[in-house]
Amino acid sequence: MALNPIPDLLDALRASLAGLDDGRVAEYIPELAHADPTWFGLALATLDGHVYASGDADQPFTLQSVSKPFVYALALTDRGLDEVVQRVGLEPSGEAFNATRLEPGTGRPPNPMVNAGAILTASLVADGFPRVLAGLGAFAGRVLGVDERAYESEVETGDRNRAIAYLMRTAGSLQADAEQSVRRYFRQCAVQVTARDLAVMSATLANGGVNPVTGEPVVTRDVASHVLTVMATCGMYDFAGEWLLRVGLPAKSGVSGGIAAALPAQLGIGLFSPPLDDRGTSVRGIAACEELSARFGLHLMRPPARTASAVYLVENRDRVLVRGLQGDFGFAAAEALTRELAGQAVEGGLLVLDLDRVGQLHPVAAQLLGTLIERLTAYGMTAVVADGDRRGLLPQAHREFGALELALRWSESTPIRA
Ligand code: GLN
Repeated sequence: MALNPIPDLLDALRASLAGLDDGRVAEYIPELAHADPTWFGLALATLDGHVYASGDADQPFTLQSVSKPFVYALALTDRGLDEVVQRVGLEPSGEAFNATRLEPGTGRPPNPMVNAGAILTASLVADGFPRVLAGLGAFAGRVLGVDERAYESEVETGDRNRAIAYLMRTAGSLQADAEQSVRRYFRQCAVQVTARDLAVMSATLANGGVNPVTGEPVVTRDVASHVLTVMATCGMYDFAGEWLLRVGLPAKSGVSGGIAAALPAQLGIGLFSPPLDDRGTSVRGIAACEELSARFGLHLMRPPARTASAVYLVENRDRVLVRGLQGDFGFAAAEALTRELAGQAVEGGLLVLDLDRVGQLHPVAAQLLGTLIERLTAYGMTAVVADGDRRGLLPQAHREFGALELALRWSESTPIRA
């Protein structure tokens, strides 16, 4: 018997939604009409590289619009944020994915998640499609291929996207050739993936740009956070606001029935179910994300309460303050500790801080603790920082390498009395 309950939870969630048969498989790209409406796959990728897969999680389908955030990541990498933002806006359009409206005055597409913005974004990636395909593969952690029939099918029928590209040409925002840009965009839409791939691709964004399965750094932490932000505000088009309220995850949908969603610093989700609602989003995909978010507590605006204390050891003996720290220290944890220690300071006393079990010490935490130590020293305290990893973030003068036990023994053998 499998001991881990999570696969059963995912199977049960999927089974509870399999009967939901609203929506229609996309037909405006003829090749997509062949999809089986009962396909339903769900995958969840953790940041230590484990992937849970349920149902048709290995059924290939074409990325379609789910490609947009990942290609945007490549454009940001190649051109830098400023240049990309000059060319493609960042405001939710509140309109359908294939809307033709451009920003009055500049002719910029409203954001990179609608087709107009994605066509322009595709033209900004250096070195053309081979880089796009390799980049998408790096996000997925495997070599991806193109579904040539889906590509040809959209080349034959994608005149609305051509119209958008020519509009951007006349508005002056698209500088590359219209037909070439549109074809490059059609090709990225025709890249074949699975729900499992979408989970890993999302997890790569959630993991600050490092693929958690392969360990490959695909994009920088900055780029990953920019992409997640745009997914949160614009990824679901004219459903973006309600989606963020109900599901609370940055996400991107596509007309083949895929959804990629990410919870920053926690996990990536991949969904696949072809029947779509009027806005072109997978009906079971939306329902599954809503359920997952509610059952697993994934809403961004409802982060879990801090369960384990970041300070695992507190000892106050006479004038000796000992604090053992663990986990990641961001502003909130560092603020609590800084305030507490500032209140406990004793002239002539000793502070022992053990950072051995600390994972990430955010620069603001290092700065707060470093400044506090400087001030405590000026106030007449001695500080010992056990910093086995030699993270070197605290002022040199106050660092002593060694285990906490050593520091404790030192404090016991050096009684500090008034
Ligand atoms: N290739 C599709 C199109 O441009 C992608 C749209 C989508 O997935 N929302 O129409």
